[in-house]
Amino acid sequence: MDKSEAANLLKEIKANHAKLNSCSKHEFGKVIGDRTNGYSTRQNMRTCSRCDGKMDDSQIILYAKGYKAAGGNPDDIGQFIDGQALC
Ligand SMILES: [Zn+2]
Repeated sequence: MDKSEAANLLKEIKANHAKLNSCSKHEFGKVIGDRTNGYSTRQNMRTCSRCDGKMDDSQIILYAKGYKAAGGNPDDIGQFIDGQALC
C-alpha cells in the first residue's frame, strides 16, 4: 500500500466512524462482504440501514450486548447473525 492508498483508507475509516457516531440506533441487515480483523479472523461486514455505516459481526455483537445492557431489545438492531441470536 502506498501513501496515497493509505490516505484514502484513513479517509474511508474516518467517514465510516462519522456515520456510525451520528446514528442513534443501528439496524443491521444482510452481509455485504467480509474482512480480516487484527486477529486474522474473517468477519462478515454489514451496513446499518439508518446511517449507512459498516461494522463487522464481532463489533455488532458487542454493540447488541451494550444495547441490551442499556435496557434495549437487541432484536431491534438486526435480530440474527448467521442464524444465531445476537444476545
Ligand atoms: Zn446506524
